[in-house]
Amino acid sequence: MRLVDRRAWGASATSPAAYLPSARGVKVHYLGSAYPSRKHSLCDDYVRSIQAAHLANTREGYVDIAYNAVVCEHGYVYEGRGLHKRTGANGNAELNGRDYAVCALLGSSGLTEPPDAMLNGLLDAIEWLRANGAAGDWIGGHKDGYATACPGAVLYAWVQAGAPRPGGASGDGEDTHTVRAGDTLSGIARRLDLDWRELAKVNGLTEPYTIYVGQVLDLPELGGGRPAPPYPGRSAFVLGRRHQAVTELDRQLVRLGFTRHHDGNGYQPGPLFTAYTRRNISDFQRSRPELSNDPDGYPGPVTWELAHMLSG
Ligand SMILES: [Zn+2]
Ligand SMILES: [Zn+2]
Repeated sequence: MRLVDRRAWGASATSPAAYLPSARGVKVHYLGSAYPSRKHSLCDDYVRSIQAAHLANTREGYVDIAYNAVVCEHGYVYEGRGLHKRTGANGNAELNGRDYAVCALLGSSGLTEPPDAMLNGLLDAIEWLRANGAAGDWIGGHKDGYATACPGAVLYAWVQAGAPRPGGASGDGEDTHTVRAGDTLSGIARRLDLDWRELAKVNGLTEPYTIYVGQVLDLPELGGGRPAPPYPGRSAFVLGRRHQAVTELDRQLVRLGFTRHHDGNGYQPGPLFTAYTRRNISDFQRSRPELSNDPDGYPGPVTWELAHMLSG
């Protein structure tokens, strides 16, 4: 566990928050605001800014940063109020006395997909609270028993799936893999250096190859793998701009039959990202349970991988 203690990020050694003898468990939170991904050298600053904002919040009357711990995208666990301290983040006095609160530096825009390091960091923080802060084994989200969107759809799905360690709850060298938020069959296959078709076959999956968070997949023997080309990044897909990756994705859309939007002359692959491109991509996203909650027509890594996997 990579713990950044209070002194290391510039807080007083001990939080002035009230003593908490024990807790039922831990509630997971996110920021719920725009949060751009950043270098780790900037994370200390961000944690200090959360503390400053909480101390300035006269309505809540916080005595300190509200969370017991904060976890950055790089997997570091920032000691917030820390062990045996009552949180201020769970919504009301009763909820604050029941569970600890751990917040992921994850946004409602910008960085919205928790990287593996972040999920591992959240689990490190939870295990730390259990081992040293008398936290019970319950894990939930801020929204459990309180009206809020926190911790967002992706983290909440992970929590509900039992907060599995990335790469499979049972660790390396096992012959199963637990599906986590944002996974696709081809993405898992690439990570584990497997052929995704073999992975589908041993699990009895056929088109449209739908998988669900928390699903335990059996792994085939090691194979060659047929991965999609590397995701070119969101900057490749800007309305009115050209990029070779648009042509590449257009080819998959044509193969998959998502071509109903066009200028009257049929839809053809090309480098220009047009409003038609966006609408056809949106149609594709709506057709997939992995993507249908955000069919914005701008391809992220999951759209990219699925389009290649299904058309291959
Ligand atoms: Zn929250
Ligand atoms: Zn960081």
